[in-house]
Amino acid sequence: MQTLELRQVSKSFGDLQVLKDIRLKVERGEFAAIVGPSGCGKSTALRMFAGLETATEGEVLSGDVKIEGPSPRRMMIFQEHALYPWLTVEQNVGMGLEIANIPKNERLPRINEVLDKVNLTGFNHYFPSQLSGGMRQRVAIARALVMDPEILLLDEPYGALDAMTRLKMQNELIRIWHGTGKTMLLITHDIDEALYLADKVYVMSPRPGQIIRTIRLDSPRPRNRHSQEFVSHRQ
Ligand code: ADP
Ligand code: MG
Repeated sequence: MQTLELRQVSKSFGDLQVLKDIRLKVERGEFAAIVGPSGCGKSTALRMFAGLETATEGEVLSGDVKIEGPSPRRMMIFQEHALYPWLTVEQNVGMGLEIANIPKNERLPRINEVLDKVNLTGFNHYFPSQLSGGMRQRVAIARALVMDPEILLLDEPYGALDAMTRLKMQNELIRIWHGTGKTMLLITHDIDEALYLADKVYVMSPRPGQIIRTIRLDSPRPRNRHSQEFVSHRQ
């Protein structure tokens, strides 16, 4: 059963057409990726799923329901992880729970559980400035996970990290995906990253973004999967 769907979606900002006739589906529990060059409309598509942007034409759906605004069921993780520098890890992660009026005595166990999932056990009282870039990104993931969303929307979450940290984080993300069974949709301009992480990769053209290819990867996770199509394409 699909849980995210764009049905013939086009999007323009004034005269600028960003997305054209996009059709894509993400199944429940799947790890999907959208890859395409900078400016092709990837973030715009993801923001639609987060309920932060509307389509000019077509339908943006979760299951059979039109997405009309943000929901804690669909949490987005942004490229600049946007932690509050004056709040501790625990306070950053717990903020959504507070806003959602989760009783105080339930918050800490939930915060500790997700910090554990992202390998940050015991970092509750650190401030973002005391953490590495990779750790800050994991706090951002914990902040989304703590709301127990069905779907994680990841907007180039590793863009700002160095190559080694990036690889570690990619493996971390696979581990989280294995451990939680969440539906994941990641966007990236890096085809290798998309092929490494995802079950299904949608390839977009430059603006106006159109889906020009869908690649399904079905060999075992998590490593060394290759798409024949991709390999031959690169040679
Ligand atoms: P990508 O994430 O693939 O790099 P984006 O979705 O961020 O691309 O942007 C696609 C195009 O849409 C860019 O040319 C960008 O400048 C433009 N754009 C994005 N958001 C807006 C907006 N709110 N108003 C006007 N133009 C926008
Ligand atoms: Mg973007």
